[in-house]
Amino acid sequence: MNTAYLSIGTNMGDREANLARAVDLLRAADGVGSAVVSSIYETAPVGLTEQADFLNVAVRVETSLSAGELLEVCQRIEQELGRVRTVRWGPRTADLDILLYNEERMDTETLTIPHPRMHERAFVLIPLAELAPDVQEPGSGRPYREMPAAAEGGVRLWKAADTGWNGKE
Ligand code: ATP
Ligand code: MG
Ligand code: MG
Repeated sequence: MNTAYLSIGTNMGDREANLARAVDLLRAADGVGSAVVSSIYETAPVGLTEQADFLNVAVRVETSLSAGELLEVCQRIEQELGRVRTVRWGPRTADLDILLYNEERMDTETLTIPHPRMHERAFVLIPLAELAPDVQEPGSGRPYREMPAAAEGGVRLWKAADTGWNGKE
């Protein structure tokens, strides 16, 4: 079994339902043994600010899938959610990114792990720290909770994990 951490984000439609559906599809995927989900956090958009606020979670997945296979599962779930919410192909209702895969580093045309921008994103680091306070950057050994971006504000707790919003195993 392998341990991977994912980040899921959404800012369209019924955001909580999108997250719940993404997690359900993840749990139902062949080769995914279990998925533990953080609390839901809300963040104002960075960059393109003329859009709705994001909800984000981190997910720890136990999986027999390779990192590449897990990326395919993530992309299939993104498509599935896109189809649920829009008549025609349009903006995604969910973004599923692979943050970490065991302690591995990899860089191919389609997959870079650790996710190349995770260390600078409070909306990734804060949910991740909740699930895995001691998780470290592969190679440097630096704990993600000590990255400067983890101390940035702007990420608010939106729904706690202990409300059981989708914490079922
Ligand atoms: P960002 O990567 O900055 O969060 P994004 O998630 O919006 O941006 P996408 O359009 O979802 O970007 O993905 C673009 C491509 O990124 C995907 O086609 C995928 O091949 C590639 N990619 C590389 N590394 C990863 C990773 N760790 N997780 C998910 N996708 C990745
Ligand atoms: Mg992303
Ligand atoms: Mg993505």
